[in-house]
Amino acid sequence: MPSVYPLRRNPSQASQHTYTHKVKRPVVEVLDEIIAITVAKHKDFSRIANISLASYVLRQIALRHFFAMFAPVSSRHWSRCCQIPGIFSWVRKLKCTTDVLTLQPTLLLKLLNLQVVELDFLPDGLATQAQRVKLLLSLLPATLTELRLLNVPRIDTHILGLVAAQCPALETLDVTCIGRFDEGCCWLCFEESSTCIIHSPIPDVYPSIKELSVAFGTALKPLQRLQHVFLGILLSSSDIFDAHFQHRFGPYIMYSDGPIGPDGCGLCVQNHALLVRQDELIAGAMIASILPSLQTISWSTWFAREEEGDESDDRLTTVWIRRADGVIHARREPW
Ligand SMILES: [Zn+2]
Ligand SMILES: [Zn+2]
Repeated sequence: MPSVYPLRRNPSQASQHTYTHKVKRPVVEVLDEIIAITVAKHKDFSRIANISLASYVLRQIALRHFFAMFAPVSSRHWSRCCQIPGIFSWVRKLKCTTDVLTLQPTLLLKLLNLQVVELDFLPDGLATQAQRVKLLLSLLPATLTELRLLNVPRIDTHILGLVAAQCPALETLDVTCIGRFDEGCCWLCFEESSTCIIHSPIPDVYPSIKELSVAFGTALKPLQRLQHVFLGILLSSSDIFDAHFQHRFGPYIMYSDGPIGPDGCGLCVQNHALLVRQDELIAGAMIASILPSLQTISWSTWFAREEEGDESDDRLTTVWIRRADGVIHARREPW
């Protein structure tokens, strides 16, 4: 009797009652796949720490997958991880707040294979935005295909122009702003947070949606491959927002005990939703007329509905573009 049960009997030696027990080593590709799935599932290095200790090859595979999405949480974390041999070629996606990069921003230049970058500008204000944007964008690779600039205090042609100049291969661009509203406390905090951002640039910055669309479209024009853009500002007049603060004393607030924007106000929705939603379509079509590859454009909005193209929880509306016979069509569902 063999001490170990064989996988199969060796026919050439069958008469001698000997058996072979062939252990197949898992091929590297299979291990690579298993580690990729494990990393994707847990996002936690402790779950793959044991694998990485097994051998040099497995450690390299584990680290490569783990750092494909790199989200440093502090400047110390950022600079220490950048000392790991190989990391500069592993990182495909970088996600962090802007202050994390401030101490050693030039390390960004070494990330050779970056495809997606998500920078949160929450630590910045109106006074520091321009300088920080200029510094960080100048260090991003020209090969970037997806860029998300979150919680910027102001979306303007300066930031869009820098993006277009620095990242000509972009296919997707998100720039958001209104996430900086503070609605977690009281009406005073809500109002104060609104004064720290340019959430509704019409009419103070641009007199109408036409001027805004031409300015933003022209700033983004160098992006010949841009397919999806999200500009997280409100196209409704800032007067709507200002007037809404008086509505809190009336019977109009629909579903909130604390502060809430015009989206939670019956009077604002009744008086403005129709026109603003029309403007969002028009602005989408106007920008698409300047950007020939654009397929969708999303806006922040107070007036999203429970229907396709809208995400009311995120105060977001999306417009799909179709070009036919020299005419641009825009609607809130795919064509
Ligand atoms: Zn408060
Ligand atoms: Zn209102």
